[in-house]
Amino acid sequence: MTNPTPSVHPGPARTPAFPAGEKSSLIGLTRPQLGEALAAAGIPERQVRMRAGQIWNWLYLRGATDFGAMTNISKDLRAELAEHFSLPRPEIVTEQVSEDGTRKWLLRFPPRGAGRPVEVETVYIPEEGRGTLCLSSQVGCTLSCSFCHTGTQKLARNLTAEEIVGQVLLARERLGDFPAGATPEGAAVPSEGRLVSNIVMMGMGEPLYNFDNVRDALQIAADGEGIGLSKRRITLSTSGVVPEIVRAGEEMGVMLAISLHAVRDELRDVLVPLNKKYPIAELMAACRAYPGLSNARRITFEYVMLRGVNDSLADARELVRLLSGIPAKINLIPFNPWPGTDYECSDWEQIERFAEIINRAGYASPIRTPRGRDILAACGQLKSESERLRIRERLALEAMIPSGTA
Ligand code: SAH
Ligand code: SF4
Repeated sequence: MTNPTPSVHPGPARTPAFPAGEKSSLIGLTRPQLGEALAAAGIPERQVRMRAGQIWNWLYLRGATDFGAMTNISKDLRAELAEHFSLPRPEIVTEQVSEDGTRKWLLRFPPRGAGRPVEVETVYIPEEGRGTLCLSSQVGCTLSCSFCHTGTQKLARNLTAEEIVGQVLLARERLGDFPAGATPEGAAVPSEGRLVSNIVMMGMGEPLYNFDNVRDALQIAADGEGIGLSKRRITLSTSGVVPEIVRAGEEMGVMLAISLHAVRDELRDVLVPLNKKYPIAELMAACRAYPGLSNARRITFEYVMLRGVNDSLADARELVRLLSGIPAKINLIPFNPWPGTDYECSDWEQIERFAEIINRAGYASPIRTPRGRDILAACGQLKSESERLRIRERLALEAMIPSGTA
Protein backbone atom coordinates (compact mmCIF):
# COMPACT_ATOMS: atom_id res chain seq x y z
CA MET A 1 0.00 0.00 0.00
CA THR A 2 1.29 3.44 -0.87
CA ASN A 3 1.93 5.67 2.05
CA PRO A 4 2.17 9.27 0.95
CA THR A 5 2.80 11.89 3.56
CA PRO A 6 -0.58 12.98 4.77
CA SER A 7 -1.10 16.64 5.40
CA VAL A 8 -0.68 17.40 9.07
CA HIS A 9 -0.96 20.82 10.42
CA PRO A 10 -1.51 22.33 13.80
CA GLY A 11 -5.00 23.52 14.47
CA PRO A 12 -5.74 27.14 13.72
CA ALA A 13 -5.61 29.53 16.64
CA ARG A 14 -9.22 29.87 17.68
CA THR A 15 -11.00 31.77 20.35
CA PRO A 16 -12.43 30.86 22.64
CA ALA A 17 -11.22 27.33 23.31
CA PHE A 18 -12.20 25.23 26.31
CA PRO A 19 -12.16 26.48 29.02
CA ALA A 20 -13.28 30.04 28.48
CA GLY A 21 -12.37 31.66 31.77
CA GLU A 22 -14.88 31.57 34.57
CA LYS A 23 -17.91 31.75 32.34
CA SER A 24 -19.95 28.63 32.01
CA SER A 25 -20.43 27.14 28.61
CA LEU A 26 -23.87 26.71 27.05
CA ILE A 27 -22.71 23.99 24.68
CA GLY A 28 -23.91 20.48 25.46
CA LEU A 29 -26.71 21.49 27.83
CA THR A 30 -30.03 19.76 27.21
CA ARG A 31 -32.96 22.06 26.46
CA PRO A 32 -34.19 22.03 30.09
CA GLN A 33 -30.65 22.64 31.35
CA LEU A 34 -30.25 25.55 28.94
CA GLY A 35 -33.48 27.07 30.25
CA GLU A 36 -32.30 26.64 33.83
CA ALA A 37 -28.95 28.29 33.06
CA LEU A 38 -30.70 31.28 31.49
CA ALA A 39 -33.12 31.60 34.40
CA ALA A 40 -30.23 31.45 36.86
CA ALA A 41 -28.55 34.29 34.95
CA GLY A 42 -31.61 36.47 35.46
CA ILE A 43 -33.55 36.04 32.21
CA PRO A 44 -37.19 36.63 33.20
CA GLU A 45 -39.12 33.38 33.62
CA ARG A 46 -41.68 34.19 30.92
CA GLN A 47 -38.89 34.72 28.35
CA VAL A 48 -36.80 31.71 29.18
CA ARG A 49 -38.44 29.27 26.77
CA MET A 50 -38.30 31.63 23.85
CA ARG A 51 -34.73 32.70 24.51
CA ALA A 52 -33.59 29.11 24.96
CA GLY A 53 -35.18 28.27 21.60
CA GLN A 54 -33.46 31.19 19.88
CA ILE A 55 -30.08 30.39 21.36
CA TRP A 56 -30.50 26.70 20.52
CA ASN A 57 -31.05 27.59 16.88
CA TRP A 58 -27.99 29.80 16.79
CA LEU A 59 -25.76 27.22 18.43
CA TYR A 60 -26.83 24.11 16.62
CA LEU A 61 -28.41 25.26 13.38
CA ARG A 62 -26.02 28.06 12.57
CA GLY A 63 -22.96 27.06 14.54
CA ALA A 64 -22.64 30.45 16.25
CA THR A 65 -19.59 30.90 18.46
CA ASP A 66 -20.34 34.46 19.41
CA PHE A 67 -23.39 36.01 21.09
CA GLY A 68 -22.80 39.10 18.94
CA ALA A 69 -24.06 37.18 15.91
CA MET A 70 -27.46 36.51 17.45
CA THR A 71 -29.27 39.30 15.67
CA ASN A 72 -32.78 38.40 16.76
CA ILE A 73 -31.77 39.03 20.37
CA SER A 74 -31.46 42.64 21.61
CA LYS A 75 -27.99 44.11 21.89
CA ASP A 76 -28.29 44.55 25.63
CA LEU A 77 -29.31 40.98 26.21
CA ARG A 78 -26.53 39.72 23.95
CA ALA A 79 -24.02 41.66 26.03
CA GLU A 80 -25.50 40.24 29.19
CA LEU A 81 -25.33 36.70 27.86
CA ALA A 82 -21.71 37.22 26.87
CA GLU A 83 -20.95 38.32 30.41
CA HIS A 84 -22.29 35.12 31.91
CA PHE A 85 -21.67 32.48 29.30
CA SER A 86 -19.23 31.20 26.71
CA LEU A 87 -19.64 29.16 23.52
CA PRO A 88 -16.29 27.38 23.28
CA ARG A 89 -15.04 24.84 20.77
CA PRO A 90 -12.51 22.06 21.43
CA GLU A 91 -8.90 23.03 20.90
CA ILE A 92 -7.48 21.47 17.74
CA VAL A 93 -4.03 20.01 18.32
CA THR A 94 -3.69 18.62 14.81
CA GLU A 95 -5.89 18.13 11.80
CA GLN A 96 -4.87 15.47 9.30
CA VAL A 97 -6.29 14.75 5.88
CA SER A 98 -5.77 11.30 4.39
CA GLU A 99 -5.16 10.65 0.71
CA ASP A 100 -8.71 9.22 0.62
CA GLY A 101 -10.28 12.37 2.08
CA THR A 102 -10.70 10.98 5.60
CA ARG A 103 -9.96 13.61 8.22
CA LYS A 104 -8.78 13.12 11.73
CA TRP A 105 -8.65 15.72 14.44
CA LEU A 106 -6.67 15.38 17.62
CA LEU A 107 -8.59 17.50 20.10
CA ARG A 108 -7.56 18.68 23.52
CA PHE A 109 -9.89 19.29 26.43
CA PRO A 110 -8.99 20.93 29.71
CA PRO A 111 -8.86 19.08 33.00
CA ARG A 112 -12.19 18.64 34.74
CA GLY A 113 -11.44 19.06 38.40
CA ALA A 114 -8.02 17.78 39.32
CA GLY A 115 -6.12 16.11 36.51
CA ARG A 116 -4.42 16.84 33.26
CA PRO A 117 -5.72 18.09 29.94
CA VAL A 118 -6.84 15.16 27.82
CA GLU A 119 -6.79 14.40 24.12
CA VAL A 120 -9.15 12.42 21.95
CA GLU A 121 -9.52 11.78 18.27
CA THR A 122 -12.49 12.41 16.00
CA VAL A 123 -12.63 11.06 12.46
CA TYR A 124 -14.65 12.16 9.42
CA ILE A 125 -15.16 9.65 6.63
CA PRO A 126 -16.58 11.00 3.37
CA GLU A 127 -18.30 8.43 1.15
CA GLU A 128 -20.49 8.51 -1.93
CA GLY A 129 -23.74 10.11 -0.81
CA ARG A 130 -22.90 10.43 2.85
CA GLY A 131 -20.33 11.56 5.38
CA THR A 132 -19.84 9.81 8.68
CA LEU A 133 -18.43 11.37 11.80
CA CYS A 134 -16.88 8.93 14.25
CA LEU A 135 -17.00 10.32 17.78
CA SER A 136 -15.09 9.40 20.92
CA SER A 137 -16.96 8.96 24.19
CA GLN A 138 -14.06 8.42 26.60
CA VAL A 139 -10.37 9.22 26.84
CA GLY A 140 -8.92 5.73 26.54
CA CYS A 141 -11.00 2.72 27.51
CA THR A 142 -11.26 0.41 30.51
CA LEU A 143 -12.07 -2.66 28.52
CA SER A 144 -8.77 -3.88 27.04
CA CYS A 145 -10.06 -5.78 24.01
CA SER A 146 -6.94 -7.62 22.92
CA PHE A 147 -7.04 -6.51 19.25
CA CYS A 148 -7.81 -2.82 19.91
CA HIS A 149 -5.18 -0.16 20.24
CA THR A 150 -7.43 2.13 22.27
CA GLY A 151 -7.76 -0.70 24.78
CA THR A 152 -4.05 -0.48 25.57
CA GLN A 153 -4.51 3.11 26.67
CA LYS A 154 -5.72 3.47 30.26
CA LEU A 155 -8.97 5.30 30.83
CA ALA A 156 -8.26 8.90 31.75
CA ARG A 157 -11.86 10.00 32.06
CA ASN A 158 -15.30 10.16 30.52
CA LEU A 159 -16.00 12.96 28.09
CA THR A 160 -18.76 15.37 29.07
CA ALA A 161 -21.82 15.93 26.89
CA GLU A 162 -20.28 19.28 25.99
CA GLU A 163 -17.11 17.59 24.77
CA ILE A 164 -19.03 15.03 22.71
CA VAL A 165 -21.26 17.67 21.09
CA GLY A 166 -18.15 19.85 20.72
CA GLN A 167 -16.67 17.20 18.41
CA VAL A 168 -19.71 17.50 16.12
CA LEU A 169 -19.70 21.30 16.08
CA LEU A 170 -15.97 21.45 15.48
CA ALA A 171 -16.12 19.00 12.59
CA ARG A 172 -19.05 20.76 10.95
CA GLU A 173 -17.31 24.08 11.32
CA ARG A 174 -14.03 22.83 9.85
CA LEU A 175 -15.88 21.16 6.97
CA GLY A 176 -18.02 24.24 6.26
CA ASP A 177 -21.16 22.24 7.00
CA PHE A 178 -23.25 24.90 8.72
CA PRO A 179 -25.87 26.29 6.36
CA ALA A 180 -24.64 29.81 5.71
CA GLY A 181 -27.89 31.29 4.47
CA ALA A 182 -30.26 29.71 6.97
CA THR A 183 -32.33 32.04 9.05
CA PRO A 184 -32.16 31.23 12.73
CA GLU A 185 -35.84 30.87 13.39
CA GLY A 186 -37.96 28.23 11.80
CA ALA A 187 -35.26 27.38 9.30
CA ALA A 188 -35.49 23.91 7.92
CA VAL A 189 -32.45 21.79 8.61
CA PRO A 190 -31.30 20.71 5.16
CA SER A 191 -31.67 16.96 4.81
CA GLU A 192 -29.62 16.75 1.64
CA GLY A 193 -26.16 17.87 0.73
CA ARG A 194 -24.92 17.74 4.29
CA LEU A 195 -21.32 16.81 4.77
CA VAL A 196 -21.91 15.26 8.19
CA SER A 197 -24.96 13.09 7.48
CA ASN A 198 -24.26 10.27 9.94
CA ILE A 199 -22.74 9.84 13.38
CA VAL A 200 -21.20 6.68 14.80
CA MET A 201 -20.08 6.29 18.39
CA MET A 202 -17.13 4.20 17.31
CA GLY A 203 -14.15 6.29 18.31
CA MET A 204 -12.30 5.94 21.58
CA GLY A 205 -14.09 4.48 24.56
CA GLU A 206 -17.12 2.42 25.50
CA PRO A 207 -20.15 4.71 25.11
CA LEU A 208 -22.40 2.71 27.44
CA TYR A 209 -19.91 3.26 30.27
CA ASN A 210 -20.56 6.98 29.84
CA PHE A 211 -24.29 6.62 29.44
CA ASP A 212 -25.75 9.95 30.56
CA ASN A 213 -23.28 12.14 28.71
CA VAL A 214 -23.59 10.12 25.51
CA ARG A 215 -27.40 10.14 25.76
CA ASP A 216 -27.54 13.93 26.25
CA ALA A 217 -25.09 14.56 23.42
CA LEU A 218 -26.97 12.30 21.01
CA GLN A 219 -30.31 13.89 21.92
CA ILE A 220 -28.78 17.24 21.01
CA ALA A 221 -27.43 15.86 17.73
CA ALA A 222 -30.88 14.47 16.88
CA ASP A 223 -32.86 17.59 17.86
CA GLY A 224 -34.86 18.67 14.79
CA GLU A 225 -34.35 22.38 15.46
CA GLY A 226 -30.61 22.11 15.61
CA ILE A 227 -28.12 19.61 14.22
CA GLY A 228 -31.16 17.62 13.19
CA LEU A 229 -29.72 14.21 12.37
CA SER A 230 -32.32 11.47 12.23
CA LYS A 231 -31.81 8.80 14.89
CA ARG A 232 -31.69 6.34 12.01
CA ARG A 233 -28.42 8.00 11.05
CA ILE A 234 -26.87 7.75 14.49
CA THR A 235 -25.28 4.45 15.53
CA LEU A 236 -23.98 3.55 18.95
CA SER A 237 -21.43 0.74 19.07
CA THR A 238 -20.95 -1.24 22.25
CA SER A 239 -18.69 -4.08 23.22
CA GLY A 240 -21.68 -5.55 25.06
CA VAL A 241 -22.60 -3.74 28.27
CA VAL A 242 -25.70 -5.88 28.63
CA PRO A 243 -27.55 -4.04 31.44
CA GLU A 244 -27.43 -0.78 29.48
CA ILE A 245 -28.44 -2.04 26.05
CA VAL A 246 -32.22 -1.98 26.44
CA ARG A 247 -31.98 1.28 28.36
CA ALA A 248 -30.01 2.77 25.46
CA GLY A 249 -32.86 1.85 23.13
CA GLU A 250 -35.41 3.43 25.45
CA GLU A 251 -33.53 6.61 26.27
CA MET A 252 -31.52 7.22 23.12
CA GLY A 253 -33.48 5.39 20.42
CA VAL A 254 -30.52 5.29 18.06
CA MET A 255 -29.28 2.44 15.88
CA LEU A 256 -27.30 -0.23 17.71
CA ALA A 257 -24.06 -1.93 16.73
CA ILE A 258 -22.61 -4.80 18.75
CA SER A 259 -18.92 -5.64 18.69
CA LEU A 260 -19.33 -9.40 18.63
CA HIS A 261 -16.06 -10.63 17.09
CA ALA A 262 -16.41 -14.24 18.30
CA VAL A 263 -19.13 -16.85 18.43
CA ARG A 264 -17.80 -18.94 21.32
CA ASP A 265 -17.44 -17.68 24.89
CA GLU A 266 -13.90 -19.10 25.32
CA LEU A 267 -12.64 -17.01 22.42
CA ARG A 268 -14.76 -13.94 23.12
CA ASP A 269 -13.46 -13.95 26.71
CA VAL A 270 -10.00 -13.36 25.21
CA LEU A 271 -10.90 -10.89 22.46
CA VAL A 272 -13.49 -8.88 24.39
CA PRO A 273 -12.82 -9.56 28.08
CA LEU A 274 -16.13 -7.96 29.05
CA ASN A 275 -17.61 -11.23 27.80
CA LYS A 276 -16.58 -12.87 31.09
CA LYS A 277 -19.11 -10.63 32.79
CA TYR A 278 -21.78 -10.67 30.08
CA PRO A 279 -21.47 -13.82 27.98
CA ILE A 280 -22.78 -14.27 24.45
CA ALA A 281 -26.17 -15.76 25.40
CA GLU A 282 -26.97 -12.77 27.63
CA LEU A 283 -25.78 -10.38 24.96
CA MET A 284 -28.03 -11.98 22.35
CA ALA A 285 -31.00 -11.86 24.73
CA ALA A 286 -30.44 -8.12 25.24
CA CYS A 287 -30.29 -7.64 21.46
CA ARG A 288 -33.58 -9.48 20.98
CA ALA A 289 -35.13 -7.14 23.57
CA TYR A 290 -33.78 -3.97 21.94
CA PRO A 291 -36.69 -1.52 21.65
CA GLY A 292 -37.89 -0.82 18.13
CA LEU A 293 -36.01 -3.74 16.65
CA SER A 294 -37.33 -4.46 13.15
CA ASN A 295 -36.12 -5.03 9.63
CA ALA A 296 -35.91 -1.29 9.16
CA ARG A 297 -33.97 -0.94 12.40
CA ARG A 298 -31.61 -3.86 12.22
CA ILE A 299 -28.77 -4.34 14.63
CA THR A 300 -25.31 -4.25 13.11
CA PHE A 301 -22.95 -6.93 14.39
CA GLU A 302 -19.32 -5.99 14.00
CA TYR A 303 -16.87 -8.80 13.44
CA VAL A 304 -13.17 -8.09 13.15
CA MET A 305 -11.44 -10.59 10.86
CA LEU A 306 -8.40 -12.09 12.60
CA ARG A 307 -6.38 -14.63 10.66
CA GLY A 308 -6.60 -18.10 12.14
CA VAL A 309 -8.38 -16.82 15.24
CA ASN A 310 -12.06 -16.25 14.48
CA ASP A 311 -12.28 -16.53 10.69
CA SER A 312 -13.07 -20.20 10.01
CA LEU A 313 -16.09 -21.13 7.95
CA ALA A 314 -17.40 -23.04 10.97
CA ASP A 315 -17.32 -19.72 12.83
CA ALA A 316 -19.35 -18.16 10.02
CA ARG A 317 -21.98 -20.91 10.23
CA GLU A 318 -22.16 -20.56 14.01
CA LEU A 319 -22.59 -16.82 13.58
CA VAL A 320 -25.62 -17.40 11.38
CA ARG A 321 -27.06 -19.76 13.98
CA LEU A 322 -26.51 -17.29 16.80
CA LEU A 323 -28.26 -14.48 14.99
CA SER A 324 -31.32 -16.42 14.00
CA GLY A 325 -34.44 -14.39 14.68
CA ILE A 326 -32.59 -11.10 15.08
CA PRO A 327 -32.99 -8.54 12.28
CA ALA A 328 -29.29 -8.07 11.67
CA LYS A 329 -26.54 -6.97 9.35
CA ILE A 330 -22.98 -8.19 9.81
CA ASN A 331 -20.17 -5.77 9.31
CA LEU A 332 -16.94 -7.61 8.63
CA ILE A 333 -13.99 -5.42 9.60
CA PRO A 334 -10.56 -6.33 8.23
CA PHE A 335 -8.26 -6.13 11.24
CA ASN A 336 -6.25 -2.91 11.30
CA PRO A 337 -2.82 -3.70 12.68
CA TRP A 338 -0.97 -1.44 15.08
CA PRO A 339 2.60 -1.49 16.37
CA GLY A 340 3.11 -4.29 18.86
CA THR A 341 0.05 -6.41 18.08
CA ASP A 342 0.39 -10.14 17.42
CA TYR A 343 -2.84 -10.38 15.44
CA GLU A 344 -2.96 -10.39 11.66
CA CYS A 345 -5.76 -9.62 9.28
CA SER A 346 -7.44 -12.59 7.59
CA ASP A 347 -6.68 -13.24 3.93
CA TRP A 348 -9.00 -11.44 1.59
CA GLU A 349 -10.26 -14.71 0.05
CA GLN A 350 -11.12 -16.01 3.51
CA ILE A 351 -13.05 -12.84 4.34
CA GLU A 352 -15.00 -13.28 1.12
CA ARG A 353 -15.75 -16.94 1.81
CA PHE A 354 -16.85 -16.00 5.33
CA ALA A 355 -19.09 -13.25 3.93
CA GLU A 356 -20.63 -15.58 1.42
CA ILE A 357 -21.88 -17.99 4.08
CA ILE A 358 -23.54 -15.15 5.92
CA ASN A 359 -24.96 -13.75 2.71
CA ARG A 360 -26.42 -17.04 1.68
CA ALA A 361 -28.23 -17.16 5.02
CA GLY A 362 -29.96 -13.92 4.04
CA TYR A 363 -27.93 -11.38 5.97
CA ALA A 364 -26.18 -8.40 4.45
CA SER A 365 -22.49 -8.72 5.22
CA PRO A 366 -20.60 -5.71 3.91
CA ILE A 367 -16.84 -5.81 4.30
CA ARG A 368 -15.75 -2.49 5.76
CA THR A 369 -13.16 -0.74 3.63
CA PRO A 370 -10.42 0.57 5.87
CA ARG A 371 -10.33 4.34 5.58
CA GLY A 372 -7.63 6.80 6.52
CA ARG A 373 -5.02 4.12 7.18
CA ASP A 374 -2.22 6.51 6.21
CA ILE A 375 -3.20 8.79 9.08
CA LEU A 376 -3.97 5.94 11.50
CA ALA A 377 -7.65 6.82 11.50
CA ALA A 378 -9.04 3.33 10.90
CA CYS A 379 -11.08 1.40 13.49
CA GLY A 380 -9.12 0.54 16.59
CA GLN A 381 -6.12 2.64 15.64
CA LEU A 382 -7.16 5.73 17.55
CA LYS A 383 -4.48 6.30 20.05
CA SER A 384 -1.21 5.91 18.31
CA GLU A 385 -0.93 9.39 16.94
CA SER A 386 -1.83 11.14 20.16
CA GLU A 387 0.41 8.86 22.19
CA ARG A 388 3.24 9.41 19.76
CA LEU A 389 2.79 13.16 20.01
CA ARG A 390 2.65 12.96 23.78
CA ILE A 391 5.89 11.04 23.89
CA ARG A 392 7.45 13.52 21.50
CA GLU A 393 6.29 16.44 23.62
CA ARG A 394 7.68 14.83 26.76
CA LEU A 395 11.02 14.10 25.17
CA ALA A 396 11.17 17.63 23.84
CA LEU A 397 10.44 19.01 27.25
CA GLU A 398 13.05 16.83 28.88
CA ALA A 399 15.68 17.81 26.36
CA MET A 400 14.54 21.45 26.46
CA ILE A 401 14.30 21.64 22.72
CA PRO A 402 11.37 23.02 20.77
CA SER A 403 8.88 20.20 20.09
CA GLY A 404 8.78 21.11 16.38
CA THR A 405 12.32 19.85 15.99
CA ALA A 406 11.93 16.64 18.00
N1 SAH B 1 -16.00 0.62 22.39
C1 SAH B 1 -16.99 0.46 21.41
C2 SAH B 1 -16.88 1.44 20.25
C3 SAH B 1 -15.50 1.76 19.74
S1 SAH B 1 -14.63 0.58 18.80
C4 SAH B 1 -16.98 -0.95 20.88
O1 SAH B 1 -16.06 -1.70 21.20
O2 SAH B 1 -17.93 -1.30 20.19
C5 SAH B 1 -15.40 0.56 17.19
C6 SAH B 1 -15.21 -0.78 16.48
O3 SAH B 1 -13.86 -0.97 16.01
C7 SAH B 1 -15.52 -1.95 17.38
O4 SAH B 1 -16.29 -2.92 16.73
C8 SAH B 1 -14.13 -2.47 17.66
O5 SAH B 1 -14.17 -3.79 18.11
C9 SAH B 1 -13.45 -2.29 16.34
N2 SAH B 1 -11.98 -2.37 16.41
C10 SAH B 1 -11.19 -2.12 17.48
N3 SAH B 1 -9.89 -2.32 17.16
C11 SAH B 1 -9.85 -2.71 15.87
C12 SAH B 1 -8.79 -3.02 14.97
N4 SAH B 1 -7.52 -2.97 15.34
N5 SAH B 1 -9.12 -3.37 13.70
C13 SAH B 1 -10.41 -3.39 13.32
N6 SAH B 1 -11.46 -3.08 14.12
C14 SAH B 1 -11.18 -2.75 15.39
FE1 SF4 C 1 -12.70 -0.25 24.32
FE2 SF4 C 1 -14.19 -0.74 22.11
FE3 SF4 C 1 -11.48 -0.84 22.01
FE4 SF4 C 1 -12.83 -2.73 23.33
S1 SF4 C 1 -12.91 -2.31 21.10
S2 SF4 C 1 -10.97 -1.67 24.06
S3 SF4 C 1 -14.52 -1.55 24.19
S4 SF4 C 1 -12.73 0.97 22.41
